Amino acid sequence: MEIFKPLDLKKDQPNADIENVENVRCLIIGSGPAGYTAAIYVSRANLKPVLYTGLQMGGQLTTTTEVENYPGYPDGVTGPEMMEDFKKQAERFGAEIRFGIATAVDFSVRPHKVTIDDSKLIQADVVIIATGATAKYLGLEAEKRYAGMGVSACATCDGFFYRGKDVAVVGGGDTAAEEATYLSGLCRKVYLIVRRDVLRASKTMQNKVLNTPNIEVMWEHQALDLFGENGVEGVTLVKKMGSPQEEIVKLKIDGFFLAIGHTPNSDIFKKYIDTDPVGYIKTIPGTSKTNVPGVFAAGDVQDPQYRQAVTAAGSGCQAAIDAERYLSELHT
Ligand code: FAD
Ligand code: NAP
Repeated sequence: MEIFKPLDLKKDQPNADIENVENVRCLIIGSGPAGYTAAIYVSRANLKPVLYTGLQMGGQLTTTTEVENYPGYPDGVTGPEMMEDFKKQAERFGAEIRFGIATAVDFSVRPHKVTIDDSKLIQADVVIIATGATAKYLGLEAEKRYAGMGVSACATCDGFFYRGKDVAVVGGGDTAAEEATYLSGLCRKVYLIVRRDVLRASKTMQNKVLNTPNIEVMWEHQALDLFGENGVEGVTLVKKMGSPQEEIVKLKIDGFFLAIGHTPNSDIFKKYIDTDPVGYIKTIPGTSKTNVPGVFAAGDVQDPQYRQAVTAAGSGCQAAIDAERYLSELHT
């Protein structure tokens, strides 16, 4: 597990001076499970996709060790190995995988224009956006120090490793409430660290959390640091920070879970593509279609709910099939 910041790509217009122009039928942006799965399907339909990997070739799973919940790997697999398998499978059918970052788009014209690395213009009949989402971290130095050693931003992914142990979850929203509830079924004790004296989570989720005996809410606490010799052994908190009652509290824990939100990597598309208030790309329910014909979205960038490798891969398949149907209608 490592910590990646969302890409800071604010430019929203392709560079008009670019002379290096290439026309492709299908462009895929992103090399996580969604992008590679889309590439497998699109290339098997003989559409010769070009996929740009972005900075994180292989996506979020390249930052984790064991993946134990992806079907087809009965003994588990490391994230990097699994993503290498995805890549090889896409290449086997002719997908062209290139290292590069989409830095600007213009979806107001056909074919759609996507600038790569500010230096090359791709004109594509269809575009599949699979740029993922990035978990937010508190910004503590300790989060980096203990990356892969007790710090996680995904309880569904890593909770299993903390069976029978004590853990803390940071956050007060629906995600934190869900993660805490999930972990309460695996762990001995779950501390929910909430910075205010109220939860932001929905009433139903609040009730669940407050009525689960092994969840203890630490109201008005904020994490300052983590400690431990060979991994997380505890967290240092400050209670009622800045007030006369301010006090330092130390908790012994084995796992520290962040659940303070995610940032979908959708900035460069927002001028053309509808997103929700958080930035998740809106798709027509049950499809990968965005508001722009010929532009499809798959994986975590359009999924505020599940954010799993297998759901991302599934939606990559949907995007490929939607793209293929769109192209065949375009040419009839
Ligand atoms: P991502 O995997 O996020 O990939 C996004 C891709 O887009 C990257 O290749 C990136 O480089 C690229 N990109 C971004 N912006 C641009 C751009 N402007 N131009 C070009 N490319 C761009 N899920 C599970 O099911 N099981 C697990 O065990 C599990 N463990 C996890 C452990 C960790 C530490 C983390 C962080 C997540 C874990 N997940 C797990 C969640 C899983 O990784 C994600 O749900 C999944 O990777 C989402 O796939 P995706 O293809 O949508 O996006
Ligand atoms: P969220 O609603 O934005 O909540 C983030 C939580 O993290 C808030 O409680 C916030 O505290 C806290 N937080 C943020 N920065 C922090 C920091 N630096 N230190 C300590 N705490 C910090 O995010 P989310 O929970 O991921 O939910 C996102 C959206 O998805 C929401 O609309 C949610 O309803 C939805 N969702 C729904 C479900 C469901 O319906 N089952 C499940 C998950 C998510 P404050 O409250 O003090 O701001």
